[in-house]
Amino acid sequence: MALDLSGKKYAQVSYEEKERLFNEVKADLRYEEYLYGCYECGICVAACPSARFYDFSPRKIAQAVAREDIDLVYTLMNDSIWDCSQCFSCDRCPRKNSPGGIITIMREVAVKNGLASAQAALEGYGRVVYKIMSTGTQVSPDMLQPSAFPDWGPHVKEISNNLDVWRRALPPETLHTTETGWQVDDKTLIELYLIWHMTGVMDMIKEVDEGLFMILQDVMEERLEEAGYDVSFE
Ligand code: SF4
Ligand code: SF4
Repeated sequence: MALDLSGKKYAQVSYEEKERLFNEVKADLRYEEYLYGCYECGICVAACPSARFYDFSPRKIAQAVAREDIDLVYTLMNDSIWDCSQCFSCDRCPRKNSPGGIITIMREVAVKNGLASAQAALEGYGRVVYKIMSTGTQVSPDMLQPSAFPDWGPHVKEISNNLDVWRRALPPETLHTTETGWQVDDKTLIELYLIWHMTGVMDMIKEVDEGLFMILQDVMEERLEEAGYDVSFE
């Protein structure tokens, strides 16, 4: 279905609220580095892999933001920015814009404000976020099993059946698995928990997935207490 850019879809959201979110985007320190205007040349669209598969255009993002079209920016923040694959191929813009960078900021504002679009976009990643944030380590490819990711669709089973072949055909730098992946030192883990607490990452998680926040809170508070820190995530 074509993307509705008329603004009607979000007519119930007040202009003031849309403006507040846009001002948050503009207040980001990176904003001035990422946007200098737009020639409307379309080079970013030609380079963008997502534009080939979705009703999505980095040019629309750059133009809406450059024109300060508050209604359109709000629509794009809800319906379009999640189609970006964050590859930064659009950085070849002759005007030195980074549409992908602007999208990064828009996504962060969407997450911090708990927009429904952010909650929907991140819904399938709860397990990955839990694994990374609770253990401080990566998700290893051998976790691609249907039992671990039932919400990732039937192709996960197909991949898991031939995972060893896939990995040898497309050799990654290492062949780490959950057994052989690096172990995170306790001190490092505690530091990560403190960083995520102090920089507001846990607050962002709470906005988009309260259930996940509560599980992480239990894990982190207990480990921090054992390490002698009296930290509350409330
Ligand atoms: S970062 Fe996003 S907008 Fe830019 S080229 Fe990649 S997918 Fe397209
Ligand atoms: S490449 Fe740059 S100047 Fe050209 S349309 Fe995209 S954002 Fe605008």
